[in-house]
Amino acid sequence: MGPKATPDQTDHVVARLEEAGVDARVSRGREATVIGAIGDRELLATLPVEGYPGVEQVVPIVKPYRLVARELAADPTVIEVDGRRVGDSYFGLIAGPCSVETREQTLETARVVAAAGGTMLRGGAFKPRTSPYTFQGLGIEALELLKEAKAETGLPIVTELMDPRHVDEVVEAADVIQIGARNSQNFLLLSEVGRAEKPVLLKRGLSTSVEELLMAAEYVAKEGNDRIILCERGMKTFETSTRFTLDLGAVAVLKKETHLPVIVDPSHAAGRRDLVLPLARAAAAVGADGIIVETHPQPEQALSDAAQQIPTSEFAAFAAEVGAVVALMGKEIG
Ligand code: PEP
Ligand code: MN
Repeated sequence: MGPKATPDQTDHVVARLEEAGVDARVSRGREATVIGAIGDRELLATLPVEGYPGVEQVVPIVKPYRLVARELAADPTVIEVDGRRVGDSYFGLIAGPCSVETREQTLETARVVAAAGGTMLRGGAFKPRTSPYTFQGLGIEALELLKEAKAETGLPIVTELMDPRHVDEVVEAADVIQIGARNSQNFLLLSEVGRAEKPVLLKRGLSTSVEELLMAAEYVAKEGNDRIILCERGMKTFETSTRFTLDLGAVAVLKKETHLPVIVDPSHAAGRRDLVLPLARAAAAVGADGIIVETHPQPEQALSDAAQQIPTSEFAAFAAEVGAVVALMGKEIG
C-alpha cells in the first residue's frame, strides 16, 4: 500500500482478496503496509488489485517460498519472548550448555549467562547424537531443570524437539523450540511446530542449501507460526580443519531473502573452543541477528561437545568481546 493509504483502504483490499479465496496477511511497518496475497497465481491475476484505492505496487513473488520471503513483511521480523528480542536492531546472545547434565551445571551456567546479559538460555534435553552409544540427553528430567533455571534467572529457554511424541512436553518447557540440523528437513516435525504457540529456532541442515532452508521455514510458517529464527551452524564440506564450514555468505544472502532473523552457531561450526570467539565476532560483523553458543562450567567433563564449549569462567569476557562488534553494527544485545 502507498504511504498515504488509509486503514480502510487496506481492509478493502484484504476483503476483496478473501472474497476471491486468497489468503491475505497484513504486515504494517514503520513506513509501509504490505499485504501478502497467497493463493493461486492465475486466480490472483484475474483480480484488478493494482486498481484498488491505496495500492501502490503489486510485486509477484516467483519463489518456492512466500510467507518467509523478504517482500512479504514491511519490516524485518523481531522475535520477542518475555521482553527479550532477536531481530532487526536486537542481537540475540543465546548461550548455555550443549546438554543439560545436572542441576548444578544447569543453574550455574544459567546464572553466568544471565549475569553477562545473555538473551536466552540454551540446553539440550533430547540430544541428536551421531553414535547411539553416547549420552542421549536426560529427556523430561532436563526439561524440569531448564524450567527451574528460568524461574531463577528469568532467561527464556531454547531447547530441541526431536520427536513429535514429545511435542507437548517440549512446547510447555521451551520458550523457543529448536529444530536441529539433522531434522532441518523433517517436514512432519516442521509442520508440527508450525502449529505450536512458541517461536521456532530452525537450524540449517548439514548439507541443506539456503533455498532449502527457506522452504523448510515455509513449512513452519504455512501452518500459521511465523515466529521463526533461522540458524547457520556450518555445513559439510571437504574441509576438516573446522568441524563444519561456517557459511557466513549464507547469512548475508538470507538477510536479503527473508524478513526472519538469522543467527549463527559458532560452537558447532568451530568444533573447538579457541575458534568460537572469532567466528562469533564475524557473525556479528556480517549482520547476523544473534548467536547461539555453548558454555559449560567444566567443559572437559561435558557429556557432549566437550571440545567446543567455552568455560563459564570465560563467558563474561566472551560476551563483552562480541558485544563490542554488536555495538559497532549499531545494534544492542536483545
Ligand atoms: C545443538 O545445538 O546442541 C545441536 C545438536 O546442534 P546441531 O543440530 O546444529 O548439530
Ligand atoms: Mn552441542
